[in-house]
Amino acid sequence: MAEDASLEDFLDAGDESEDEREGDTPAGDDTTEMESDAPDSEASTDAVDPAVTTYAWSSEGAACAECGEVVERRWTQDGQLVCGACKAW
Ligand SMILES: [Zn+2]
Repeated sequence: MAEDASLEDFLDAGDESEDEREGDTPAGDDTTEMESDAPDSEASTDAVDPAVTTYAWSSEGAACAECGEVVERRWTQDGQLVCGACKAW
């Protein structure tokens, strides 16, 4: 029971922060920010770690595009969502 509650809390927090970011900055600008590896990262205070590639998180899990394994977290690679094992870091 306690695990369910904490999981829901985590989901809610994630959704809220994502909404804030999207309302703040247009999606196109976000992409540009991630591609340009600017040294002055202080300018973007609310930015997530720029080194981290965009990833998708699913509480129920989703199949990796490469190996088909169902995982909670997948990363975008070549336009596909792959698991951590298939992602070329
Ligand atoms: Zn995989």
